[in-house]
Amino acid sequence: MNEANRYSLLFEPVQIGPVTARNRFYQVPHCNGLGHIRPKAEAAMRAMKAEGGWAVVSNQETEIHPTSDLSPAAEGRLWDARDIPALRLMTDVVHDKGALAAIELAHNGSHATNHLSRAPVLAPSDVTIDAIMPKQARAMDKSDIREFRRWHRDAAIRARDAGFDIVYVYAGHHMSLPHHFLLPHMNTRIDEYGGSLENRARLTRELLEETREAVGDTCAVAFRFAVDEIQGADGMQAAEEGRALVEMLADLPDLWDVNVSGWSNDSATTRFEPQDGYQNEYISFVKQTTSKPVVGVGRFTSPDMMVSMVRKGIVDFIGAARPSIADPFLPKKIEEGRIADIRECIGCNICVSTDMLGIPIRCTQNPTMGEEWRRGWHPESIAPREKETDALVIGAGPAGLECTLQLAKRGYEVTLAEASDAVGGRVLREGKLPGLAAWSRVADYRVYQLQQRSNVQMFMQSQLGAEEIAELGIANVFVATGAHWRGDGIGRSTLRRRPELGVNAKVLTPDDIMQGHRPPDGPVVVYDDDQIYLAGVLAELLAQEGRDVTFVTPASMVSPFTENTLEQARIQSRLIELGVTIRCNRLMAGLNAQAVRVSCAYTGREEEVGCSSAVLVTERRRETVLFDALRDTGNFRTLELIGDAASPGLIADAVYSGHMAARNFERDPQDTNAEWFRREIISLTS
Ligand code: ADP
Ligand code: SF4
Repeated sequence: MNEANRYSLLFEPVQIGPVTARNRFYQVPHCNGLGHIRPKAEAAMRAMKAEGGWAVVSNQETEIHPTSDLSPAAEGRLWDARDIPALRLMTDVVHDKGALAAIELAHNGSHATNHLSRAPVLAPSDVTIDAIMPKQARAMDKSDIREFRRWHRDAAIRARDAGFDIVYVYAGHHMSLPHHFLLPHMNTRIDEYGGSLENRARLTRELLEETREAVGDTCAVAFRFAVDEIQGADGMQAAEEGRALVEMLADLPDLWDVNVSGWSNDSATTRFEPQDGYQNEYISFVKQTTSKPVVGVGRFTSPDMMVSMVRKGIVDFIGAARPSIADPFLPKKIEEGRIADIRECIGCNICVSTDMLGIPIRCTQNPTMGEEWRRGWHPESIAPREKETDALVIGAGPAGLECTLQLAKRGYEVTLAEASDAVGGRVLREGKLPGLAAWSRVADYRVYQLQQRSNVQMFMQSQLGAEEIAELGIANVFVATGAHWRGDGIGRSTLRRRPELGVNAKVLTPDDIMQGHRPPDGPVVVYDDDQIYLAGVLAELLAQEGRDVTFVTPASMVSPFTENTLEQARIQSRLIELGVTIRCNRLMAGLNAQAVRVSCAYTGREEEVGCSSAVLVTERRRETVLFDALRDTGNFRTLELIGDAASPGLIADAVYSGHMAARNFERDPQDTNAEWFRREIISLTS
């Protein structure tokens, strides 16, 4: 059987109520920081998924009323008919590419803050809202419930008028009113909407029935439901009420889209849920309980696993958010038997972080994500070369690899030189740390692609200096030499008062640890003024190796940036479980052979933390010696610094920088400078 036939099961059409999906690939709703603020960008991004072969392309949670106002987050919005044209942009392009368009209608209840609308926040019972804000939600009375049902029904009609084929009722992620009504800890009502599961499910049943009544002749009605809260007996469990609810509503929706809640459990990172299909144990009962099609998620990228999930009767549709972000063309590649060409999601949740930050989506693996409209980037195609013929890329980290790959795709003869004996740069180093093995996919995917091309030469153990480069006679040079962690403790919190490092102090940098060096025997302090993710991983590694670790940080929690990747709570609890002592709100004032001197971030009061060594995770220094030397020669037509050497950041930033450099190579400089990227300007006409 050839590869394509082996996966033919995945390309069977499936009926969902009154509509038919062309295959089993289903892009479930996912947030993206585009939404109602950047509707053209959202439409172009969704169109790419449709072009890549997804049979269903969903938008994201879509506010149905001003009492569900998620501002300043950029989610979907369908408050009234004036929002229809922006959503129409998406349905039109998705239909053009042969896919069905789905909309996730949402009333976010006490998850909404209503900052813009200043409306009262609604909930089943009086509760504080799901944000640290001086506001409480009010229990909905019967007329509120009647109104809410009317808003939902009206929004369903507007969704149909906007061209959607599938309309969701949403009870997931602890983020919507129907979910809040279902959960006993959020619903303490004593009327017919509270108490027994049947009563708590009343609102959901009404919404499903009324949505069908309103639009069910032309649109399918999907129900997104979190079957388990992963709270054990303290929450809804798949084995108990989760199952009972599916049994109760079994054939009411046209499709079950099932997952676990909250969002950090649903979109778990590979650091905490390394296996694809990590939700199967919770959702696998659903298909036996309903005759309607079922979609499930779990970071699926392996077509063999997808086939086995359908064969085993776990799902009808392969649901995906992140795998469709990392590779919008995943279905097409499977259909064409090009399995090795799949750009696999690494489960890092940088995509999620952008929604948290209210900025356009980006992805570590797919640098074109979110750039489809504003830069016109396509994940699978790039303009062919113009006049130049060759290029040299120095450094095979994520920036150098991506730049080389895209230059090669454009048709240049590309030479890639790497000083060490292996490719990957920081992903090779970081991918060896606990839980981060999947990050090496960033290099693996690119190396495989480069090996398929005859116009690329890769040289390892080639530490190039300015003279060797001049001898090569290549006029176009991209320098991707990366960055190194500094070892003097200077970072964001210690710029005014630099730490005093005693001559006998034993200091290691993250690079030392990643190269295999270890602190001498005795207690070790990991000092984190980077506050992103690395210090937390290094502390975990050292604690796993049996070291006595104290984690010191000026921040008020471990790795605060990882709140954006939904990992912070897990990281902090893992360190606690491993016996790491955590000292927050402490700046490093000095270090000697016996102790770190720390000062309180608020009072400046100093104390000592005994240790025989410290790992200092503060900031990086750009590696620009080679670039500076090359620039001084003035011998090159193109000389560009890219990746961490140009601007230290995330792996996603390095990949993006390499991609951008390759796209812009030989582009008219006027063109590059004239317009940084397209913007969606607010209309002043009304
Ligand atoms: P980025 O994230 O920007 O890709 P990395 O630090 O991951 O940066 O990778 C930089 C790579 O550049 C490393 O693999 C390093 O070995 C390599 N490198 C640094 N200096 C040179 C040089 N002079 N010649 C060749 N390779 C170099
Ligand atoms: Fe996957 Fe990371 Fe891309 Fe998100 S950002 S889709 S988790 S690779």
